[in-house]
Amino acid sequence: MQPHIPAVDPIPKCQDDEYAEVAWGKENLDGKFSAFNIPRPKVFGKQVKFEMLYCGICHSDCHMGLNHWNNANFPFVPGHELLGKVVEVGPEVTKFKLGETVGVGCFVDSCGECESCKAGFEQYCYKGMTGTYGAPKVHGRVGGNPKLRTFGGYTGSNVVHEDYVLKIPEDMDKEKTAPILCAGITMYSPLANWNCLEGGKTVGIVGIGGLGTMGIKIAKAMGNKVVAISTSNKKEAMAKAKGADVFVVSKDADSIKANVATCDVILNTVSADHDLNTYLPLLKKQSTLVQIGGVTSPHTIVNFPLMINRWSVAGSLIGGVKECQDCIDFCYKHSIYPDCETIEANKIDWAWDQLLGEGGNPDGIRYVIDIKKSLQNESFLPAKE
Ligand code: NAP
Ligand code: ZN
Repeated sequence: MQPHIPAVDPIPKCQDDEYAEVAWGKENLDGKFSAFNIPRPKVFGKQVKFEMLYCGICHSDCHMGLNHWNNANFPFVPGHELLGKVVEVGPEVTKFKLGETVGVGCFVDSCGECESCKAGFEQYCYKGMTGTYGAPKVHGRVGGNPKLRTFGGYTGSNVVHEDYVLKIPEDMDKEKTAPILCAGITMYSPLANWNCLEGGKTVGIVGIGGLGTMGIKIAKAMGNKVVAISTSNKKEAMAKAKGADVFVVSKDADSIKANVATCDVILNTVSADHDLNTYLPLLKKQSTLVQIGGVTSPHTIVNFPLMINRWSVAGSLIGGVKECQDCIDFCYKHSIYPDCETIEANKIDWAWDQLLGEGGNPDGIRYVIDIKKSLQNESFLPAKE
């Protein structure tokens, strides 16, 4: 693969149809997080403006900001677990009112017309969904300067077309709800697709980090048996406390052997290069390993075990708008929240280090930026002009 040399563009001044907003991002590949102003599109038509209350930190933010996916561009403002309060609506908005709590997940636009979009799977849009951050504005529902890429949720506010905004029940725990918009739905969608919604299956979850722990909680609440699969035994007590029935240490051949052919489906959230053949023997015959982690190195899979067992290796990407709303409503009904640590924006670099370090998110938690508190910290705001 040709190495991608990330572009580093200056941030242009706001156009007439934009306003300036505080954001925390990376100005270039090597830099740490800093505070700067970004142009945000002003409200028009069906656009909903919300002030940001919380934004979760996903390992995908790190992958993209560090060019692991060979597609980074700068300045980079990540964040695709956005939770806020509506402060302005466009004249054509029908679904949202001022003061309501809303969420936005991993995308803010898609073509809206292809087979995937029409079926409610906008994440698989044939023309490509528009990611909440780092994406070119191609489908027309993101306003402002068309040359700018989208900026994510590590910021004071955002403006998004109402069809890509989600309703958050007012009495949900707001601090902990943001991560449902990526970590939650990314586990909910494959569980729904591979027939686990009604329970009664055995679900393996590999990688007990932000996604993995949400997967344990959601799969369990659906009525499934959950097998947590982790690189060491350090997370056993934690995984069991979150609902895992069985704990497998993937680096221990005996632990794998003791659990061979037990899982109806395995959701693999590992964020670093790995050998997926380690996990296949845990599958029952005619079952599926679903790749979810954002690793880019190709895998080597031997045909014969696949044929003999009729195993499938599949992939799954976040979830569509309707499915995401279903996931929020499911988590609300069952009081499912991620375990979170709330931080201020000046600790984003530190939080990324926790996800990227040797221990691999040692506490299986989601770091969530408290935006209001961060905006009060004069020492980490853009310099006044
Ligand atoms: P995270 O909190 O950092 O957790 C990742 C987990 O992967 C770690 O807790 C660790 O689990 C495991 N891991 C790390 N290095 C490993 C290694 N070398 N070998 C085996 N296991 C290792 O990350 P996250 O936010 O949950 O995200 C997980 C992955 O999913 C990321 O790659 C992210 O980009 C991707 N993602 C995909 C989608 C999608 O739609 N498909 C959506 C969101 C995120 P143990 O300590 O238990 O071994
Ligand atoms: Zn994510």
